[in-house]
Amino acid sequence: MQKPQDSKAPVATAPSATVATSTKLFSDLNLIEPLQRALRDLNYERPTPIQEQSIPILLAKKDLLGCAQTGTGKTAAFALPLLQNLAKSKEAAGRRQALVLVLAPTRELALQIHQSFEDYGRYLEIKTAVIFGGVGQGPQVKALFNGVDVLVATPGRLFDLLQQKHVYLDKVQTFVLDEADRMMDMGFITDIQKILKILPKERHNLFFSATMPPDIAKLANNILVNPQRVEITPAATTAEKIEQWLMYVDKAAKKDLLRHLLEDKALKRVIVFTRTKHGANKVAEVLLKNKITSAAIHGNKSQGARVRALEDFRSGHCRVLIATDIAARGIDVDDITHVINFEIPNVAENYVHRIGRTARAGREGIAISFCDAEEKSFIRDIEKATGKAIPVVTQQPYHSKAVELAQLMSPGKAKAKIEGGNRGGNRNRRGGGGGQRRSGSGGGGGNGGSRSGFRGNSGSPNRA
Ligand code: AMP
Repeated sequence: MQKPQDSKAPVATAPSATVATSTKLFSDLNLIEPLQRALRDLNYERPTPIQEQSIPILLAKKDLLGCAQTGTGKTAAFALPLLQNLAKSKEAAGRRQALVLVLAPTRELALQIHQSFEDYGRYLEIKTAVIFGGVGQGPQVKALFNGVDVLVATPGRLFDLLQQKHVYLDKVQTFVLDEADRMMDMGFITDIQKILKILPKERHNLFFSATMPPDIAKLANNILVNPQRVEITPAATTAEKIEQWLMYVDKAAKKDLLRHLLEDKALKRVIVFTRTKHGANKVAEVLLKNKITSAAIHGNKSQGARVRALEDFRSGHCRVLIATDIAARGIDVDDITHVINFEIPNVAENYVHRIGRTARAGREGIAISFCDAEEKSFIRDIEKATGKAIPVVTQQPYHSKAVELAQLMSPGKAKAKIEGGNRGGNRNRRGGGGGQRRSGSGGGGGNGGSRSGFRGNSGSPNRA
C-alpha cells in the first residue's frame, strides 16, 4: 500500500466541525461496522446531506451525478459506499490493475481523497495508491505493481503510466470523476477522453462537479448511464455564511491595506489569493518584510514545497497562505477565518471557489476583495454571475475614491455599500446595531475577538 508523500499530514478529519448534518445516523445508512468504527474514530456523528443522499444510491451501484463542491462532505459520500462495495466483493485486483479509479484535477486533492480512503478504510483490508505528476514515478510504479483496490490519480500522470504499461484499466469496476469542471478548466479533457476509451464499458460511474455548464453536462451525459442526481448547493448555502466585503484601493496601496488588515489578530487563518505567481511572490515579499509568517503554494513550487507549505498552514505554524487559483483547488483546510482576494479573479467562477475556502464545514467566514481601477470589470462579472452586489467597505484607510467613483459610474453596477464595515448590503447600518449577527469590529462587538479583520482600536470598523 502506498503511503502518500505527505503521510505526516493530519488526517482529513474535522472532529469539531459543525458540518450541516441530517437527523439520520451513519448506522441508518446500512454501513458496515468497520466503516462505522472508523467514523467514530474520526468523530463523525451524523452524515452530511450529500452523504445521506448519495450513500444509498452508491451502495445500490447506481450511477451518480453529484453537483457539489468540497466542503460538503463529498469525499466521504463516495468513499464510504465504494469501500463497502469493495469489502463485499470477492474480486481481487490483479497485477498493475485497479478496481476503483478516482480522477482528481490536482495533486493536493488526489492526496486528500487518498487519505480519506485510508482513514475510512482503516479497519478493512483495502489496498490503495495515489499517483500524480511533479514527483518521480518510481514509488508510484512500485505501489501499483501488485495491484490496488483503489487508485486515486491526476489525469496526466495516469496517462503517462498507462502509456508505459505500468498500469492497466481493464479491471476497473468503478470510475469516479471528481471536480469535473476544474478538470476542464485545467485542460484535462483530452486525457479524460483517452482514459474513458480504455475503461471497460460496463462499470459503475460517479461524476462530481461544483458547476454544471453545458459542456460539463455533456461530458456527464457521455459517462453516466441513468444517473441519480444529487445536488447540494453550497454556493448558495455557503455564501450565506460568508460575509463578503469589497474594498476599493489603488493598486500600489494594496500591500499597505493587506498589512493593515493583518495587524488584526482576528484574522487567524487567512488565504490570500492572487491571479498570478508574480502576484503571489509580491505578497510573500510584503509579508516577509512585515514579519508575518506565510507560506505560498503556486505552480512554480516543487511538490515538496507545496506539501510543506500546506502542513505549516494546517498546523497553524503559518497564519497566512498565499495561493493562486489552480494551486488552491481542493485544499482541505478547515477553520479558515478569512479569504483575501489581493487580486480579483478574472473568471467569476473562481471567485465562488476562492471564497468557498472559508465557511467550510458549516462555519462562517469573511471574504475581502481588493479592487483596483483595472479590476472593476471583474467585479461586475462576479456580481452578474452570483446575482448579488458585494457590499463595499469605504471606511478603511486606503479607500480609493477614484476607483469607487469609476465603479459607481459604470453601467449596470449594483450598489451596496457598508459605512463602517457592518455586514449585509444595508447602507445605513452602523456598528453595534442590535440584532445583528455580529458587529463589524471593536465598536462594541460583543465577543472580544472580532472576526471582522479590522482593528478594534479605532473604535469602529476600519475607521482609521
Ligand atoms: P469534503 O467536502 O469531502 O472536502 O469534506 C469537508 C470536511 O468535512 C473534511 O474535513 C471532512 O473530514 C469533514 N467531514 C465530512 N463528512 C463529515 C461528517 N459527516 N461529520 C463531520 N465531518 C465531516
